Amino acid sequence: MWKEKHPSQSVRWPQGVRLPIVVSVHHQSEEMTSLFPDRQPDPFDYSERQYGARRGAWRLLEILDKHGVRGTWLICGATLEKYPEVSRAVKKAGHSIAGHTYEHEMMCNLPRETELVLMNKTVSAFEDLLGERLRGWRTCFASHNTIDLILEHFDFEWDGSIWNDDLPYIVEGYGREVLEISFHAYSDVALVALGAEGPVSAYGTWQSNTPEFALRALKSMFDALYERGAEKAVMMPLTVHDFIAGRPSRAKVLDDFISYAKQFEGVVFTSHDQLAAWWQADYRAQNESVA
Ligand SMILES: [Zn+2]
Repeated sequence: MWKEKHPSQSVRWPQGVRLPIVVSVHHQSEEMTSLFPDRQPDPFDYSERQYGARRGAWRLLEILDKHGVRGTWLICGATLEKYPEVSRAVKKAGHSIAGHTYEHEMMCNLPRETELVLMNKTVSAFEDLLGERLRGWRTCFASHNTIDLILEHFDFEWDGSIWNDDLPYIVEGYGREVLEISFHAYSDVALVALGAEGPVSAYGTWQSNTPEFALRALKSMFDALYERGAEKAVMMPLTVHDFIAGRPSRAKVLDDFISYAKQFEGVVFTSHDQLAAWWQADYRAQNESVA
């Protein structure tokens, strides 16, 4: 069991930071491919997603590099094993790395013991192949056990599996704390699925929402949060997937959005590790001033 802890006063970001944009790149490629009734992977869906590791991730790396943006890459253990060169390039470029389950399992459908096995398997893959001790975790489809398992069995500094806030907060349990940094997938997935007619293909950007729509949605999200950031601390999660936003037209949306947001004073693109450090420093300062 665990409980939430929030700061007693408003959060303050460091001097000069008005809106942190927390960048999540989901590097998951063909994990979670749709299966036919006989449990064989759908070859079309498989290849569409496989574009993520073969081309998309590299294109996203280039765009982030062009803008000098360093974010968090959330990587599945199996994707790391299949395409270690991508993760090595991500690490070399200076991005933060976090775990994103093993094969992008729907943890909400799995028993607690299985979820724990898959989490351990992912953590080990990063240690063995990349020499990386994971500091952060995200399960897209969190179960009722996800937070308990993180607190009870792992020493992650943050989790980003929950969708429920504009600011981080602490979850406390099992004698320790972890910072929850909420996310959403409105930056690419939700925007391509919305409004699709017939069977929803989250990746069929040509049949649902146009790149112009996606860019407009990102800009309005940004404008609202930037305005609010003048009065109160907020953060903007920017979540993209290698197999969706890595496609040329969607990648251009990301490129254009970064160019747009960069023009505003006090906008900082950042990783979860950096955001967690800022939040914790402010939280400690508040507690000391109360003591
Ligand atoms: Zn994901």
